[in-house]
Amino acid sequence: MRIDIVTVFPEMVEPVIQCSMLARGQQAGSLQIRAADLRQFTHDRHRTTDDTPFGGGAGMVMKPEPFFEAVEHLREEAGWVPARIVVTTPQGRLFNQQMAVEFAQVPHLILLCGHYEGIDERVCQHLATDELSIGDYVLTGGELPALVIADAVSRLVPGVLGNPESLQQDSFVDGLLAPPQYTRPAEYRGYGVPEVLLSGHHANIARWRRLQQLLRTRERRPDLWQKVSLTPEDIKLLREAEQ
Ligand code: SAM
Repeated sequence: MRIDIVTVFPEMVEPVIQCSMLARGQQAGSLQIRAADLRQFTHDRHRTTDDTPFGGGAGMVMKPEPFFEAVEHLREEAGWVPARIVVTTPQGRLFNQQMAVEFAQVPHLILLCGHYEGIDERVCQHLATDELSIGDYVLTGGELPALVIADAVSRLVPGVLGNPESLQQDSFVDGLLAPPQYTRPAEYRGYGVPEVLLSGHHANIARWRRLQQLLRTRERRPDLWQKVSLTPEDIKLLREAEQ
């Protein structure tokens, strides 16, 4: 999979994409992830990427032409394979795991980073396939949201994670939060580990983990809990825990 992050601050993006799992995925050849400098797609002496808003008002708006040209260039470079073109904006749909799964199946993902008052609306309407927000707060620029999206998508691309089985144990995979995890030492500063995890009894451990997922999700995320379809075994586990 190829991911391009289009930004006026490539130096903000580059160190992150050269670390950890993103670097590993690139070394393994499953992932190609790059920062594209938006200023390379300007034609004036000052390499201008923003201008004052039509209608007046404070701040600057990012110009449409460099974004259109950048996306056309990157898509051509990638051989016009199917692509999702994402504008990062606090006004977009809230990014979630389901969308990460969807994007990981597309060969080319292009993430556009805004600044100032945001990006000219024509980019959102006539170039982007998606407008995504990472949460109900306003950041100074789209680089952190683009990196969040790139990271969440990358780890789902086959060959990026060392052990792909760990993806099955993640929060949100089956609509539930993941269970709590413990590692050695079995006792630390007087704090122990649930006995069942030390028992070696795999069926009991699996039941305990499932119950923790159910209890955690019900307690912490009522929004997710409302959408969970409980199995008869889940209902039994919850009844037993309540007794
Ligand atoms: N004036 C815009 C508004 O109120 O909707 C906010 C612009 S923000 C200061 C500048 C840029 O940061 C945006 O164009 C976007 O790329 C990025 N950004 C800020 N918050 C974001 C969020 N929650 N999710 C995604 N992108 C965000």
